[in-house]
Amino acid sequence: MPPPTDVEADVEVVAAAQRASMGDVIDPSLRASALAAKGFMPGDEGDALYEAAVEAARAVPGLPMLEVGSYCGRSTVWLGAAAREAGTVVFAVDHHRGSEENQAGWDHHDESVVDPRTGRMDTLPFFRATIHDAGLEREVVAVVGQSPDVARVWRTPLAFLFIDGGHGEEPARLDYEGWTPHVVPGGTLAIHDVFPDPADGGRPPYEQIFLPALESGRFHLRSATGSLRILTRVG
Ligand code: SAH
Ligand code: MG
Repeated sequence: MPPPTDVEADVEVVAAAQRASMGDVIDPSLRASALAAKGFMPGDEGDALYEAAVEAARAVPGLPMLEVGSYCGRSTVWLGAAAREAGTVVFAVDHHRGSEENQAGWDHHDESVVDPRTGRMDTLPFFRATIHDAGLEREVVAVVGQSPDVARVWRTPLAFLFIDGGHGEEPARLDYEGWTPHVVPGGTLAIHDVFPDPADGGRPPYEQIFLPALESGRFHLRSATGSLRILTRVG
């Protein structure tokens, strides 16, 4: 290959500096797909999730990512886009029956995701439509089931783990115990809905996942965006 011209070299230097200072940025049309989906991931937190996922997958190449709690696929689009950028895949684990706080009578209930045939929530068709419309069916592998049941038989080391499943005390504790050991050293753990101040939201992601991860000495806090926490596995 001929050496790059000065202009090409300059462009590459600027691009590298931009990547270093701003981090990786999701393709705008994929970002629009994410924001068009029903869900609970704010734009700035999704962008931080994307950046951390690309970094993690590059830091430990060849390993997949995994998300616990996909709902209608909103956060999954940021992760699927990151998987594509880094040349890997993301497993998206959800039973698609909704968390406690998504059920009828609770704050985060959406009547339109109830299956009239069974009267139960079913977000799988919405998830599938989101991933299809984003063009990410190769990068996103859906795993439909109870998170602890999947974790019990899971054997594949992970570059990146995102926990955003059930926010009750027991589900959060089981996700911490079942999934965090699969993150390899140099890999990343991301946790959503971490609220150190009880006035801002529920406790379990903070008390059952975030604090135990730090106290275990296995993870260091790398960054915080809204209620998203990004930790690196160190030991
Ligand atoms: N990440 C999503 C929001 C997830 S909401 C977004 O960006 O919008 C939490 C999801 O966790 C729900 O879809 C619910 O079905 C799922 N969930 C809760 N407990 C679970 C469990 N024990 N096993 C599998 N999925 C679970
Ligand atoms: Mg969340």
